[in-house]
Amino acid sequence: MGYILGIDVGGTNTRLGLVSEKGELTEFVREATSQYNREGEAVGLFIGIIRRYIEEHATGKEIDAISVGFPSTVDKERRRVIETPNIVGLNNIPVVDTLEREFNVPVFLERDTCLILINDMEKNHIPGEGVAIGIYYGTGIGNAISIDGKIFTGKHGVSAELGHIPMRGVDGRCGCGNSSCAEIVACGRALEGIIKKHFAGSDISKVFVEHGDSEIIKRFVDDLAIPAATEINILDPDYIIIGGGLPNMEGFPREELERHIHRYARKPLPDEDLKFIYSKEGQESGVMGAAIHARKELLKREKGV
Ligand SMILES: [Zn+2]
Repeated sequence: MGYILGIDVGGTNTRLGLVSEKGELTEFVREATSQYNREGEAVGLFIGIIRRYIEEHATGKEIDAISVGFPSTVDKERRRVIETPNIVGLNNIPVVDTLEREFNVPVFLERDTCLILINDMEKNHIPGEGVAIGIYYGTGIGNAISIDGKIFTGKHGVSAELGHIPMRGVDGRCGCGNSSCAEIVACGRALEGIIKKHFAGSDISKVFVEHGDSEIIKRFVDDLAIPAATEINILDPDYIIIGGGLPNMEGFPREELERHIHRYARKPLPDEDLKFIYSKEGQESGVMGAAIHARKELLKREKGV
């Protein structure tokens, strides 16, 4: 048995690593995504980065599969990247076919947030049966849903876009073009806007410590709870994983967030039995999730499922 080459594509960094069958990560590196963030050349340059990585870090090692997470919408079959908002040139790309042809090993593709959830489920020993949701408050709102151990994809593969549920009274425009999305008021980008407008000159990393008592920040935390409670009321999940940069910031009021989620959750259930788990993703979470995902998929292929 060899290694899974896990790749986590992000807007700023692309992370690569080799994960052994025992789940040990080695040869972890970060490459600047700007190296291939170019219209018309992105795919070729991306392949070049993988090729160089293999030459420098995997010579003499057996690679069982390449598993890649993209910050993109991907098709239901998980073979093609549909659209990537923050990287130029990664729209409508048949990633699996292209990489399998180049590298001659099985290739797996997933949405990055799904791989983070897969890694969080493994780390927290969450069983496959039942419903687990991951809500990640970062620059935007990342979201993934696992039902009985399978990522829920929807008709076109673009399910779990919690950042784009409509909220009334929202002022502004979302990156998706709509002017009603939760993400306009309830994510890191929204917090940056609040700081600019109300606490100019403040250090964003200290905002919950210095301004946590202000009405505007209290309202912001309340707004974060609305999309979460929406999904909870629809799915009645067994596990609610909350992660991303925001909940891990100094002084972030997790109890307040939970209190608001309880406030919006249906009574008596699921409200009385919400199970929150906080995730602290590291740089390597996406690569690890990619490897766990690939091992499971390879096993399914072996068994002919
Ligand atoms: Zn939107």
